[in-house]
Amino acid sequence: MGYHKSIMDEATTNTPTDTSTLTTEDALQSGQPVAFQAEIQQLLDILIHSLYSETDIFLRELISNSSDALNRFKFASLTEDNVHDASAELAIWLKGDPDAGTLTIRDSGIGLTADDMVQNLGTIARSGAKDFLKAVKESGSDAISADVIGQFGVGFYSVFMVADEVHVTSRSYQPDAQAATWVSSGKGEYRIEPAEQDARGTTITIKLKDEHKDFAQPYRLRSVVKTHSDFVTFPIYLWEQQPAAEEVDEPTAEYKIVNQQQAVWRTPQHEVDDATYKSFYQSLTYDMQDPLMRVHLMTDAPLQLYALLFVPSRKDYRIMGGTEMGLKLYVRKVLIQDKFADFLPNYMRFIEGVVDTEDLPLNVSRQMVQNNAIIKKIADVLVKKVLSEFEKLAKGDVEKYQNVWQEFGMYLKEGVATDYANKTRLMPLLRFASSKSESSTDLVSLPRYLERAKADQDEIYYVIADSFESAARSPHLEYFRKHDIEVLYFSEDIDSYMLFGLDAFEGKTLKNVDDAELNLPETDSTESEDESDALEQDSFDKIITRFKDVLGERVVDVRESKLLTDSPVRLVNPKDAANTSMQRLQRLMGEDASVPKKILELNRSSSLIKSLADGPAESTVSDAVIEQLFDSALLAEGIHPDPASMVARIQSLMEAAVKA
Ligand code: ADP
Repeated sequence: MGYHKSIMDEATTNTPTDTSTLTTEDALQSGQPVAFQAEIQQLLDILIHSLYSETDIFLRELISNSSDALNRFKFASLTEDNVHDASAELAIWLKGDPDAGTLTIRDSGIGLTADDMVQNLGTIARSGAKDFLKAVKESGSDAISADVIGQFGVGFYSVFMVADEVHVTSRSYQPDAQAATWVSSGKGEYRIEPAEQDARGTTITIKLKDEHKDFAQPYRLRSVVKTHSDFVTFPIYLWEQQPAAEEVDEPTAEYKIVNQQQAVWRTPQHEVDDATYKSFYQSLTYDMQDPLMRVHLMTDAPLQLYALLFVPSRKDYRIMGGTEMGLKLYVRKVLIQDKFADFLPNYMRFIEGVVDTEDLPLNVSRQMVQNNAIIKKIADVLVKKVLSEFEKLAKGDVEKYQNVWQEFGMYLKEGVATDYANKTRLMPLLRFASSKSESSTDLVSLPRYLERAKADQDEIYYVIADSFESAARSPHLEYFRKHDIEVLYFSEDIDSYMLFGLDAFEGKTLKNVDDAELNLPETDSTESEDESDALEQDSFDKIITRFKDVLGERVVDVRESKLLTDSPVRLVNPKDAANTSMQRLQRLMGEDASVPKKILELNRSSSLIKSLADGPAESTVSDAVIEQLFDSALLAEGIHPDPASMVARIQSLMEAAVKA
């Protein structure tokens, strides 16, 4: 119904009388102009007026549409009985006419009926174009268009960057379809009219703007095809002048194939050089950088499978581009789906690439594909292969793996929580900063952690914090530093989620350092705590009671710390409470904003605690100090609900300090 509506809208403005009957057929016969959907017009205005210099992407987009149309025809011809012009060669033909200033692109693909034209060339179909408009809206200006149009793949409409007028003439593959022509100058409206064309497919004739007449030159077309469309799997013919043979006066022109049409994923690895892989990656993703990693897989048994996968250059390489994830799925070289998401688990959604198999039926329906046992087998092979490539890189090229980790480590952490079958393979791939890191990029793996752990250490320690810096400052670490026990820093939001799957590694339980019950390794008795200047039991008991009185219900208990050396207090998690990472996750998901109740531990040797004990039994200043110690501990844990509320108290404490 959508497209009928747009015709009627337009008809309302042109013929205010009876409009309800205007259909595609009427539009065809009357030649009445039809308005573009408002969004299309918006897109066209941006494209036409943009200062975007890479105008040659319009050709990439049109060739890509032709290639889609050819793939769809190939599929139809294998699954339907009756198709028009069955024996025509599947190809794309480009012909520039420098004198007339025109460029013609023809394909023998599936073609368009007049209805298809109304539906597809007047409304916004492509997700890339939608994303583009969304990004433009969000940025609040059209300026965004200048450098990012190329990333979006805005589709057919990009032709209006170079065209004064465009004619699309097409004959559908359906046996009794009628040819039609769609004409527009990209300014508000288009017309459709009946056409004469018996050959199946689509011919797009572009009347080039004066400043873009060079797109009628064969040398220009050849170079654009080589840059953007070399891997299109159908031949792209270019109409070119041939050098005149001596005996002929007139130079001749003929169609010559310009693209290499290589199905790189089916080419044996030793026959593909780095540059080819790279340009294939670029043509697949429109990413201008090198991929961080590639996985090329060809198997004969038990599956006949070809896959070429890439880890992109950066996680946000398509900041502006489409958000749809998935791999290109070919069955026996026929493209079945552009974004097939079921081959790789969700946490591997950053991987791009192509999968081609001989083992699926061509006419497998798209719903069936989701539950197919072969699909599952392929998925299994791919995941294992990707993991083994990660393992290889982690071992063989530490620096490069570090780059991959910086960009995509968070996805692997997600995998630890979600991919039960593979989590033991994922764990050694994890990397963390720790109390032994020189900087936030100095990372350790779990196997390495265990290698340098204490001989009798049977737990793996971690601290949860909001950043590397706050982890490094955590009062919980004092004891561990002193006794040279390494503590991992879990400072990313995803770490709390990861902990769902990371309870132990090689038999050693992971323990939060704020856990009330840690099974710490024996420490050297000669370096045991110096208790000579610690508070006496009697005074210490009193100060504990004071803390309890002041803090009341806000703490589960107040008690002595065995682990603090410098800080006066720390908060630990009671044994039966949800663990700190769960609490944090709940907070992140906005489920629980209340402050979890913890045990406050006091450092018996801290001079501040001692001074408090020495001071008057009760005073407003010591009350404020106790409150502030508690607030500071909440702050150190990153769970203070309202830090600004401390300001007034801190001021009064400063006043007291200055007066004293
Ligand atoms: P997209 O290709 O992403 O869907 P476009 O705006 O480029 O978006 O094209 C819109 C639609 O027009 C396509 O989905 C397709 O149905 C149709 N189309 C475009 N070019 C051709 C072509 N050469 N042959 C057949 N159909 C085409």
